[in-house]
Amino acid sequence: LGSAERVFDMMDTLPAIQDAENARNLNDTKPEIAFTDVNFKYQESDARALNQINFIARHGQVTALVGPSGGGKSTVLNLIPRFYNTQSGTIEIGGQDIRQLSLKSLRSHIALVSQDITMFDDTIATNIAYGAPNATQEDIINAAKAAAAHDFLAALPQGYDTYVGERGLMLSGGQKQRVAIARCMVLEPDVLLLDEPLGALDLKLREHMKIELKALQAAFDTTFLYITHDQSEALVMSDQIAVMNAGRFEQVGTGQDLYYRPETPFVAGFIGEAN
Ligand code: ADP
Repeated sequence: LGSAERVFDMMDTLPAIQDAENARNLNDTKPEIAFTDVNFKYQESDARALNQINFIARHGQVTALVGPSGGGKSTVLNLIPRFYNTQSGTIEIGGQDIRQLSLKSLRSHIALVSQDITMFDDTIATNIAYGAPNATQEDIINAAKAAAAHDFLAALPQGYDTYVGERGLMLSGGQKQRVAIARCMVLEPDVLLLDEPLGALDLKLREHMKIELKALQAAFDTTFLYITHDQSEALVMSDQIAVMNAGRFEQVGTGQDLYYRPETPFVAGFIGEAN
């Protein structure tokens, strides 16, 4: 009875993030994402995680978020699917305020791979096709190939029909990351948000994945934001680099803009890393 009470308490809890009355659908499939004067503080924290953020991620472009840990990069990604509401300022996607959009519609346009990858206690195939139930076996395999996951998945005891177990315990961190990227590839998303997508991969796989991610982005004209600690990767992969520190954007520009201005924190970080 004690357990049942707790379960029902949980089921009765209303989500903090709800649809607005008359919430609309996102109808722009080539959306630009615009942050205007955004301030954000986590409930559990006294300090602001984001401070007066103004920023545009143009549709069809790759934006890299770089900068030291705790700078606010993951928070920027988490606000776009509205995992949290901002305290002030607006976030628009395709020119529509995300608070006026239905969560279902907003999130159906977005694929996100966070650092904490969720795997379901089901088969590999179901895990990859989680957001695209109509995906065929061929779609699933093509996505896994693009995500450099096909070889190890095909070698599992039952191949794509192998159960991954609770939280994907039978896969390594890098393998889970690749399955999560395959899940994004199947979705063909309008907006792709990746938190350190290549962090757990070795050099060869990183090179493969860079090419595949660029190809995915170009094929679907995806608005692509990703976090990286590798500044040379940011230079190669992105149209725009945003340097974040202490909840602010210190600089936003193309790799050329930032790299050829030696006084910039971006280059200071780059040189620091090389040393
Ligand atoms: P980054 O991705 O650049 O490492 P984060 O966006 O994760 O930075 O964190 C920004 C700030 O918000 C940090 O000070 C961090 O401690 C804080 N923070 C992040 N997540 C939470 C949370 N769930 N609750 C409270 N504070 C958080």
